[in-house]
Amino acid sequence: MEIIHTIAALKTLLAPLKATSKIALVPTMGALHKGHLSLIKLAQQETDIVICSIFVNPTQFTDPKDLEKYPRPLAHDIQLLEEVGCFAVFMPTVKEMYPSFPVPEDWHIDLGEAEFVLEGEFRKGHYQGVTQIVKKLFDAVGPDTAFFGQKDFQQVLMIKNMVSHFSLPIEIVSCPIVREDDGLAMSSRNIHLSAQDRKNALVLSRSLQYVKDHYGKESLGSLIDHARRQINGIPGVELDYFTIADPNTLQPIKDQDHPHPVALVAAKVGETRLIDNMLM
Ligand code: AMP
Repeated sequence: MEIIHTIAALKTLLAPLKATSKIALVPTMGALHKGHLSLIKLAQQETDIVICSIFVNPTQFTDPKDLEKYPRPLAHDIQLLEEVGCFAVFMPTVKEMYPSFPVPEDWHIDLGEAEFVLEGEFRKGHYQGVTQIVKKLFDAVGPDTAFFGQKDFQQVLMIKNMVSHFSLPIEIVSCPIVREDDGLAMSSRNIHLSAQDRKNALVLSRSLQYVKDHYGKESLGSLIDHARRQINGIPGVELDYFTIADPNTLQPIKDQDHPHPVALVAAKVGETRLIDNMLM
């Protein structure tokens, strides 16, 4: 596997391959787990060359402590990518992606109203940071396709809005959430959970599953009340939101005739903030 640190080296590597190969990008922040690897495997099935990027992007963190403690097990990540047969990993420095860092670059694009709800409300400016780095990665790689996880449901929507803002010829693929056997959505942040937090965290997927199982059988209000009560009933879990929303606007749905709604949840479990979602 090629290990690339600069945009120039990446362009040199990919230039001769572009005409004949379909290139996929899988952007990550590292601390790779089976969820990330599932994206790479799907990308391998659908394209010729898969580039995984590992970059902990400072502009999308709203809490400096969260950025500081973000796990960075790079040697292990490289080993996992080797094992799965990834073509190349792009691991730039912060200076490579933001030459004037820490001076902020001018970046603001219209991502639509959905930028400001749910995660956008709790992490102000988060999606400006996410779309800024993904655009830079798209410019560096020039992929035909990019693979993202449905785990970050709102993120996929924001990336699609960014792609349409710039009319980029890049297909965005949303991949299913990979879960632990007991239902917990895999996340790089799960390693911060204590044994008790780990048990408590199950309430998130369970509340989503309850709502999915009873969707159409109980009123919307009672489904949401049940889920919120279930979560609030676990000491050490602090609910940020639980909603059943339209997948494009992320506004709460008003009735159950709605096509393809999604239930989304975010909560702090101990010191760790987790998100999850389920299509109804
Ligand atoms: P991250 O490293 O957390 O920024 O995630 C990189 C990519 O992996 C994003 O597109 C995530 O949505 C995706 N991802 C993270 N966790 C999972 C999971 N459990 N299942 C599927 N995709 C995931």
